[in-house]
Amino acid sequence: MDFEYSAEQEAYRMELRNWLEANLPEDLKTDDNHSMVPSSPEEFKKRQAFQKKLAQARWIGIWWPREYGGRGAGIIEQTIYDEEYDRARAPRMTNHPPINQWGPTVIQWGTDAQKKRLLAPMLSGEETWCQGYSEPNAGSDIAALQTRAVDKGDYFEVTGQKIWTSAAQFADWIYMLVRTDPAAPKHKGISCMYVNMHSPGVEVRPLIEMTGTHHFNEVFFDNVQVPKEHLVGPLNEGWRVAMTTLNYERAISGGAGHLNQIKRLIELAGTVTVDGRPAMEDEYVRQQLAQLRIEYEALRLTGLRALTRQIKGLPPGPELSMLKTVGCSLVLGITRFTTELLGSYGIMNQAYGPVPDAHQLLSIVLGVRGITIAGGTTEISRNIIGERTLGLPKG
Ligand SMILES: Cc1cc2nc3c(=O)[nH]c(=O)nc-3n(C[C@H](O)[C@H](O)[C@H](O)COP(=O)(O)OP(=O)(O)OC[C@H]3O[C@@H](n4cnc5c(N)ncnc54)[C@H](O)[C@@H]3O)c2cc1C
Repeated sequence: MDFEYSAEQEAYRMELRNWLEANLPEDLKTDDNHSMVPSSPEEFKKRQAFQKKLAQARWIGIWWPREYGGRGAGIIEQTIYDEEYDRARAPRMTNHPPINQWGPTVIQWGTDAQKKRLLAPMLSGEETWCQGYSEPNAGSDIAALQTRAVDKGDYFEVTGQKIWTSAAQFADWIYMLVRTDPAAPKHKGISCMYVNMHSPGVEVRPLIEMTGTHHFNEVFFDNVQVPKEHLVGPLNEGWRVAMTTLNYERAISGGAGHLNQIKRLIELAGTVTVDGRPAMEDEYVRQQLAQLRIEYEALRLTGLRALTRQIKGLPPGPELSMLKTVGCSLVLGITRFTTELLGSYGIMNQAYGPVPDAHQLLSIVLGVRGITIAGGTTEISRNIIGERTLGLPKG
């Protein structure tokens, strides 16, 4: 493969870089790229306003068709976009997962009326979405879900509970999986639909993480009336629709902003001390930083190998399955070394001496385990690699 970008692609990169420099508000810059969910309604509004600007300039939905408000560009442009977005330390939008997973699902499975109604406001951030797949007894085994939708003639009546629903507190819509045929085998009686979060009978209850943040929620549905035209894909074939969403979700999971975090660690090694000397003078510290940088480079190149296959029109190879597990392992390594390097500064939940961003670092350290669970756990990803890539027998 060719690692060089063309002059045209470099020009596109500079156009985006300049746009972000001119338009990204200083107070939205962050190294915590894992968190799509703003910490307060005020921050939500700020991110929403920035998303509107991105959409007006067509700097969001890079590979979405132009007719739905996207840029209509290719996957190389998307890769350059991701690099520049991280470089600028721009925050993830609350609609980031829906735009990358649910939008493409609507484009593939939705009716023309659904595409016309749903896609543009999702991209501009005018309407916020959340994902209602997981339930208390259906996570890795999502097909065990129990929330039911009963056909009432003109509408469906939805009753049940979802859990771990990220950003439900800000959402106008939820796309969800429901059981529409309880008598069918478990993968066959599921349908996919979207529900207005402001409907009577929908209740959102917060779940507070150990970071102290309100990232996800429980969502309860009590005889909620849902118009029939909110069904996406054929009735009882929601499993196929869900696979489209989940494939996009796995492709973008595994953490982001690794390079920024490693760069921050390198800076910190210059300011904090080990045995009274700058940490960077310690051989172990230098080796750890070099190791993380090497692992980042290997991950980046693996990502480019996956990209090359895509550009050549080949089916996804082993690289794609590896990206999530290796990305998670790198991010765990970064946070493990962050706590080692910071020592007691690592438990400060406020700006302190040589570590003015101690509170943000603590939040990343405490929140990182979620990345190994969201979008399918590491164990499930390893099962997929073992069974589908290596052809090992089912465990
Ligand atoms: C930060 C975060 C955000 C999330 N956001 C959303 C959201 O917006 N919407 C949504 O629907 N869901 C969301 N989730 C839920 C997530 O998809 C589930 O937590 C995940 O699929 C795992 O399901 P579970 O929690 O029920 O764990 P379980 O499936 O009960 O798994 C428990 C443990 O058993 C292991 N295990 C299970 N089955 C196997 C197996 N066959 N082989 C080996 N090990 C196995 C798992 O790896 C795990 O360690 C989010 C989760 C997190 C952490």
